[in-house]
Amino acid sequence: QKAEWALLKNEPTFTKDGKQVELAANIGTPQDVEGVLHNGGEAVGLYRTEFLYMEREQLPTEDEQFEAYKQVLESMDGKAVVVRTLDIGGDKHLPYLQLPEEMNPFLGLRAIRLCFEEQEVFRTQLRALLRASMFGNLKIMFPMIATLDEFRSAKAILLEEREKLQNEGINVAEDIEIGIMVEIPSTAVLADQFAKEVDFFSIGTNDLIQYTMAADRMNERVSYLYQPYNPAILRLVKMVIDAAHKEGKWAGMCGEMAGDEIAIPLLLGLGLDEFSMSASSILRARSQIKQLDYDQMGLMAEEALQKSTTEEVMELVNKVTKM
Ligand code: PEP
Ligand code: MG
Repeated sequence: QKAEWALLKNEPTFTKDGKQVELAANIGTPQDVEGVLHNGGEAVGLYRTEFLYMEREQLPTEDEQFEAYKQVLESMDGKAVVVRTLDIGGDKHLPYLQLPEEMNPFLGLRAIRLCFEEQEVFRTQLRALLRASMFGNLKIMFPMIATLDEFRSAKAILLEEREKLQNEGINVAEDIEIGIMVEIPSTAVLADQFAKEVDFFSIGTNDLIQYTMAADRMNERVSYLYQPYNPAILRLVKMVIDAAHKEGKWAGMCGEMAGDEIAIPLLLGLGLDEFSMSASSILRARSQIKQLDYDQMGLMAEEALQKSTTEEVMELVNKVTKM
């Protein structure tokens, strides 16, 4: 099986009936790129930049960040790299940023919210990213966007930094796509409005499931509620994908669900364009997608959206794909 997968390494990803999708990888450090290329990743769908900030005594400088982003972009050699701006807070802390304790850290000052409070930290990262944009195919993504105003503010700050750099005579790529993670239900529900302004969506199911089911993703006692195939989740995912397509934008997914064997046939049927997963899952996913029929998965997904429980959805997928 492994040998058969290896043959797919340099192939694009097509279903049996010729529908193409993109298989991308999630990374945390520049060193991870080697594994992405080795496993046939077509892009980086999520670069979690938190790791640059963690396990150290002070903030990374603009130059340090620039070097890391440049390295990733250069090693990906023109393939797309979606860099997510800082998502700290929640379960991740920085010892050198003194922030008050919160009752509900996952509902608190996390990710883009923290970046608005600590604007210099945010601006430094954006400058590093903009400078690095000349070295490959950079796309910038904001995490934990809950309202359109947040997206507009984040984008305005990014454009301000771009203008400053240009005034300093520093080159910045012209055509950087700016997108958001959809990981808060309000944003999934309002995706049609967001789609008019963002360049792309990437659905973060790790959080979207937690916030939709009101079940802490780390708490084993409520893990029975953590249900990726729940029709409620599938309907939200569908809303996001349809909204993107209506505006001619693309929709990806970078939560764990994107690499899940049962979810892949459903997501394919819902029309997902890009699947971003751990590099080690890519060849398995490509081999699975090659054996699936896009039209059939579309019909199956429609049926799944009318089911009432996770179990019913799983039964349907198992029956149709004979897993
Ligand atoms: C997600 O929420 O699905 C996601 C990809 O982000 P993280 O796991 O880093 O919160
Ligand atoms: Mg998340």
